[in-house]
Amino acid sequence: MKILSKNTHHSDHALEIIFSSLRWFFLVMAIAVFYIQYIGQPDRTTMILFSSLVAFGILYMAVSDYYLHKSPEGSKRYTIMTKCGPLFDFISFSALIPLTGGVDSPLFPLAYLIILHITVYWRFTGGIIAAFLFIFVYSIIFFTQVPDVFTLNSFTEYISQTVFLVIIGGLGGIIVSRERKHHSDKNILAEAANRDYLTDLLNHRSFQECLRKDLESGKDFHLALTDIDKFKAVNDKYGHVMGDAVLREVGAIITSIIPVKQGRVFRYGGEEFAIILYTNKQDEVDKLLVATKKSVADHVFNSNGETFSVTMSFGSCKQNGEKPDQLVKKADKLLYAAKDSGRNRIVYSTAG
Ligand code: GH3
Ligand code: MG
Ligand code: MG
Repeated sequence: MKILSKNTHHSDHALEIIFSSLRWFFLVMAIAVFYIQYIGQPDRTTMILFSSLVAFGILYMAVSDYYLHKSPEGSKRYTIMTKCGPLFDFISFSALIPLTGGVDSPLFPLAYLIILHITVYWRFTGGIIAAFLFIFVYSIIFFTQVPDVFTLNSFTEYISQTVFLVIIGGLGGIIVSRERKHHSDKNILAEAANRDYLTDLLNHRSFQECLRKDLESGKDFHLALTDIDKFKAVNDKYGHVMGDAVLREVGAIITSIIPVKQGRVFRYGGEEFAIILYTNKQDEVDKLLVATKKSVADHVFNSNGETFSVTMSFGSCKQNGEKPDQLVKKADKLLYAAKDSGRNRIVYSTAG
């Protein structure tokens, strides 16, 4: 139950499973209510109507359950079947209530559940429209069933029921909208906390987190640290705004070369980037880093008609079960070796 309630926070699928289970539960309950109410006085027409309703319900619920479990979430069929659910519920409700006691039916509170289900998809507007549809059905039943509608008692009953329906629709819609907004704000904040503002790459904090997780899980990977050569001169000559543009472009070039399935690119800090490559093959690492180095060097920047390009130095090594900071130190040393030996080159760990 705890797992189910946790999952409903994250997925509409878990919620749909709850609603679908509730439908089966209320079908059984409806049969029980009907049976008890009509004990000893079988009415043929009512019997036929109720049996048809049950048969229709079982058929619909079986088909919708099939799609709920067999179609991938988000597929067209899945969406149609789940969104048609409340419509089916509304039609069944409108037929079921007159057959199980009308305004006094113990199944009337089902209206509240159906309205709440509608607010999950159509929020406030959906909740209010649904409430008025239920008021319409309720009014028909009420005015045809209640013998003397013009008494204070009947009036109070009618008004309180309609007010309740509107409150459930409106309040349900507001709560769903509020929670959805809260959820999306949280996602935006989490995303912002993990991304670098300038380059939109994953930031230093994500890098440390990713490195820690990958080392803990014992994944095979290489770590490369790369730094733009003589970047200070770019800033000095073309200004910091141009320097920022270069950083953005270099980040985009690296990302375009490293396949998402094979690695992650981070802005380590300043004009340094970190690349994690999920492979244990040195030649694959070499191919990707050589391609990255070449793409950056081949890119031509333009500052007020003056063109220039930048090069990068790389230090790369394979993880060997070290602690995160030891591995970074190792890659950093190799990067410095690349700088010391003339820049615009890749230095690998001789240990592999
Ligand atoms: P080396 O080849 O040894 O790496 O030389 P370098 O000039 O690239 O290295 P240095 O560390 O001397 O200079 C790095 C420069 O990067 C200095 C700093 O102003 C600049 N820098 C760091 N972060 C940013 C940034 O976000 N925007 C801009 N425009 N410049 C930055
Ligand atoms: Mg540099
Ligand atoms: Mg640097």
